[in-house]
Amino acid sequence: MDLYEYQAREMFESHGVPVLPGLIATTPEEAQQEAEHLHDGLLVVKAQVKTGGRGKAGGVKLASTPQEARDRAGEILGMDIKGHTVHTVLIAEGADIAAEYYFSILLDRSNRTHLAMCSREGGMDIETLARERPEALARVPLSPFRGIDEGVALEILEAAGFTPEEQVRIAPVLVLLWDVYRDEDATLVEVNPLVSTPDGRVIALDGKVTLDDNAAFRHPDHAALADISAEDPREAAAKAAGLNYVRLEGEVGIIGNGAGLVMSTLDVVALAGEELRVRPANFLDIGGGASAEVMARGLDVILGDEQVRSVLVNVFGGITACDEVARGILGALDQLGERAHKPLVVRLDGNKVAEGRKILAAAAHPLVHMSDTMDGAARLAAELAAEERPAPSHAPARA
Ligand code: GDP
Ligand code: MN
Repeated sequence: MDLYEYQAREMFESHGVPVLPGLIATTPEEAQQEAEHLHDGLLVVKAQVKTGGRGKAGGVKLASTPQEARDRAGEILGMDIKGHTVHTVLIAEGADIAAEYYFSILLDRSNRTHLAMCSREGGMDIETLARERPEALARVPLSPFRGIDEGVALEILEAAGFTPEEQVRIAPVLVLLWDVYRDEDATLVEVNPLVSTPDGRVIALDGKVTLDDNAAFRHPDHAALADISAEDPREAAAKAAGLNYVRLEGEVGIIGNGAGLVMSTLDVVALAGEELRVRPANFLDIGGGASAEVMARGLDVILGDEQVRSVLVNVFGGITACDEVARGILGALDQLGERAHKPLVVRLDGNKVAEGRKILAAAAHPLVHMSDTMDGAARLAAELAAEERPAPSHAPARA
């Protein structure tokens, strides 16, 4: 989960990272009222969207009075920044900037560790800096056990070419940013720019934080940070129903039990669909207890997706035996009624497979096709999806 800048700044503040006070607003009038609560002097009005480059796009503007903050907020609210509409602005006290630096900590998957990146040349687009002047961007692998203590912070700053005086001034902030990264289970903490003020203070002027959703159970307070409106509505519905669902860009809906089985189902459907130019539409693992109830919830999410043209149900009977799964599928179709109208290929195997197949065969549901093998089921589902594809005049061009 990515946080908005104002959420990142609040999180920084709660860990002692120096930030300037700020408040959020959704209308120009509110922006003015909030600005009245801030210290007199330079103000900055910033678009709150989950994308970078707001400054360049005109989404960051300075103001010197609350009235001006209202006008700048009026210009920024409703703006489109790289496809993100601005609904909220942050009004913050502005900093006098003597120098802008770059600092980030991220999970470096390819090296199986954490990585700190630091540069004296902050404020600009970091991808450009990394490409054009890689020597100006220090990269320091971090030990997960040691993280960033005072000593490591000094090493990072030394590698980035800071003077000894600067190193001593900035190091404590890097240590605090590591605390944020570790304590909040983040996979990214980025500050661009981290600034020095003329009077020598070091302040995080911007903040980008990505939290590890897999650690959400350790952080009940993180749920409040979720931005329901920005989530894919199907993923939100699936999450609310307790399903493990990820939407993809294809036509064959997939339901299976067990993450490994679902992953391999995606693979065989991708292979079977290659020539027909159809792909898996989603990942959906309904877990061990493939009851009618859970099956119905899963089917409901998948069938509600207009890109889906056929569905492959691939279940390996274990503790929940195939006969129960078969009844679950029929029960789900019953529950869904008219909402179920796309062909379903069912492949059952494992515990009580004969009974399960017999139940489906006896029901002879018009939407249900059976297949004994995973490859056969994938082929059939891909063919059905290709057949069901609307005429080219209605379909968007495929790349
Ligand atoms: P981004 O473009 O989305 O990364 O937004 P930033 O928050 O990084 O702001 C972009 C630029 O606006 C910064 O690099 C600064 O140059 C400028 N800026 C942001 N906040 C302040 C501030 O408080 N004072 C001053 N003087 N400039 C600021
Ligand atoms: Mn920035």
